[in-house]
Amino acid sequence: MVQWHQLYDVTIIGGGPVGLFAAYYCGMREMNTKIIEFLPHLGGKVSYFYPEKMIHDIGGIPQISGENFIKQLEQQAKTFDPTIILNQQVTELTKQEDGTFVLTSQSGEKHYTRTIILATGFGTLKTVKLDVENANDYEGKSLHYSVDKIDYFRDKHVLISGGGNSAVDWANALEPVARKVTVVHRRDEFGGLECNITAMRNSSISIMTPYTVTALTGEAGQLSSVTVSRLGTSATEEIIVDELLVNHGFDIDLGPIKNWGLEIENGTIKVDRNMKTSIDGIFAAGDVVNYTHKLKLIAGGFAEGPTAVNSAKAYLEPEQDLIALYSTHHHDELLRKHKKLAKA
Ligand SMILES: Cc1cc2nc3c(=O)[nH]c(=O)nc-3n(C[C@H](O)[C@H](O)[C@H](O)COP(=O)(O)OP(=O)(O)OC[C@H]3O[C@@H](n4cnc5c(N)ncnc54)[C@H](O)[C@@H]3O)c2cc1C
Repeated sequence: MVQWHQLYDVTIIGGGPVGLFAAYYCGMREMNTKIIEFLPHLGGKVSYFYPEKMIHDIGGIPQISGENFIKQLEQQAKTFDPTIILNQQVTELTKQEDGTFVLTSQSGEKHYTRTIILATGFGTLKTVKLDVENANDYEGKSLHYSVDKIDYFRDKHVLISGGGNSAVDWANALEPVARKVTVVHRRDEFGGLECNITAMRNSSISIMTPYTVTALTGEAGQLSSVTVSRLGTSATEEIIVDELLVNHGFDIDLGPIKNWGLEIENGTIKVDRNMKTSIDGIFAAGDVVNYTHKLKLIAGGFAEGPTAVNSAKAYLEPEQDLIALYSTHHHDELLRKHKKLAKA
């Protein structure tokens, strides 16, 4: 018996901000779209790591919380009713003789598609763990790698280990809420946006450099103090803390996608300026892509998503132009037409 399966024009792997925006744009280009997301929810790193953090660097939106931003993106992405599959990690790729693809997820479910857009971010969302002997004893209790609820830190002494964008951002966000914030960093210079570093330096945040966390003390998962060592010396200090937040970056691990034969550099996928990967019919956008001066921000991915969609459209219909098309003039008319077609 021949089994029927729906063949999609495009399957977007990854339901983070870039995958969601690309899905919306696919609808604009009347492409039949499916999104497959590993996690039980959409929103990628934003929902996973910083639902309560304020985002300030998206054009036209002075500030918005991660959670509200994803709500709006989700609503926009659903405009053209894409099929959304959650809780499935895509593990295998097969290109068939007719040029279409079969994707298989870890559950064994198969997905059929004519093109693919990879919007998988850093792959599995894994943070670099604190390299201190008994760190596991405190993880998820008083040692954190992300901030789920800012209010959890209210009136507490929070020690932040790290010196990149996230560490600086969280130090500033927690300062008005926590009783005290201490930042410990192994270098004297901090990474991240200058205005955030200046705000941190001009605040009540206590900054210790060049220091590193070397020991944890506490009971039943609750830290009582953290020992920090001054680099290049034998000097140590014991700091009484309630909570420790570690922001040491991310492990980029594409997971099974590594084995698909795509050209990869520094753990991310090489693309040309049309967001084409080294395999015909597979495109990529967002944090997963690699090209010179790639901007690892939502705004960067928001430009790449429509470019990848336009490239996929041109791959399916070679007479199509690669240029971006505007949405504004025809939006209402387009939606009406789409709803009418969907009903028919
Ligand atoms: C703490 C923090 C704060 C940040 N603050 C800002 C900010 O203020 N402004 C800003 O512009 N950027 C910020 N960023 C960066 C921003 O979050 C990323 O640039 C953005 O999330 C990239 O979106 P994406 O869709 O490419 O990838 P992601 O958000 O990483 O989403 C990728 C999705 O793909 C899924 N996936 C991966 N592999 C598979 C697979 N095989 N099968 C199915 N699904 C898969 C993952 O589960 C994930 O949900 C911040 C990042 C962090 C960590």
